Amino acid sequence: MTSNKTENTTWFAENLIAWQRQYGRHDLPWQSSDPYRVWLSEIMLQQTQVSTVRDYYPRFIAAFPTVQALADADEDAVLSLWQGLGYYSRARHLHNAAKQVVNDFGGVFPQTRIQLETLRGVGRSTAAAIAAFAFNKRETILDGNVKRVLCRVFALDGDLNDKTFTDQLWALAEKLLPENETDMSAYTQGLMDLGATLCKRNKPECAVCPMINHCLAYRHEQQAQLPRKKTATPVQEVFWYWLIIRRGDGAVWLEKRPAKGIWGGLWCVPCVDGFQAALDYGALFGVAAEEWQEMPPFKHRLTHRLLHITPLLVAVDAVPSLSISGQWLTAASWTDLGLPKPLAAYLSKITGKNNGLA
Ligand code: SF4
Repeated sequence: MTSNKTENTTWFAENLIAWQRQYGRHDLPWQSSDPYRVWLSEIMLQQTQVSTVRDYYPRFIAAFPTVQALADADEDAVLSLWQGLGYYSRARHLHNAAKQVVNDFGGVFPQTRIQLETLRGVGRSTAAAIAAFAFNKRETILDGNVKRVLCRVFALDGDLNDKTFTDQLWALAEKLLPENETDMSAYTQGLMDLGATLCKRNKPECAVCPMINHCLAYRHEQQAQLPRKKTATPVQEVFWYWLIIRRGDGAVWLEKRPAKGIWGGLWCVPCVDGFQAALDYGALFGVAAEEWQEMPPFKHRLTHRLLHITPLLVAVDAVPSLSISGQWLTAASWTDLGLPKPLAAYLSKITGKNNGLA
């Protein structure tokens, strides 16, 4: 670390708490001391904008108002409500963690950060957020926003991919915690609010920031340099054929994707990466090569992948008995399942327009 300004840091918590109470966010639908609600919102907010979560969260809570209700739910129902949020492993972990709370903790959330970290999909920062908001525990969060604030306030120029540096950030964040447990909720919300509303990645609003008199990045005009930029993760290109096989009654052949990988656990049309594989798959349905109708390709961007998708359509009449796993599903039923968003949109489009299919 390049800063020695880590002594006598009580001003950090004091300024943050006072600012949060007066100017912070108090109207987020998940602000609560209910660990289930805090946990759900924290998982949804990973990799997802607050504005998007504001839309999804109430529907999810309405469908699964308690951890017991979530644990009892069918996985497809959970994935369906997650449809469009991306990172579907979060939804599967959420579902499994709800079962853990019910089976291992008698349906009551554990209160310590260490116990909370035993739940599927719950890392240290998420566990700390639940422990702080729900149980007033003196545990610190350290998500991307908080790292940015700390690197700027204390002028810490380190590699955020480097474990030694992030360990030092954790130690600093712990040191900054307020003494009084009853301040933990305002303090933790303040950390989130400061990074989200003032100390933004671009154009931080230093003039109204409660840290302005202490912030070294502000003093030395280093806001644009701190935190040090991470090396960009290369985007992986994936080339797929979507095999859209429709029966005379309009049902489409869908299979459940493997739990790991792109759209893990969602229902999807078969995705193959070569034309020969498409022909081989079609042969299982008695489809000849010339029967496939190739549609214009399109691209779909995931965080670290760029999908190049070429839909192949075919209508089948007499369907042989199949030894592969999958189901014929109609529009009425696939809307209740977790389908990848671009596929749901594409199927709606071709169902609306009759592409020469039955
Ligand atoms: S003064 Fe500016 S750079 Fe420093 S913490 Fe506040 S918003 Fe961020």
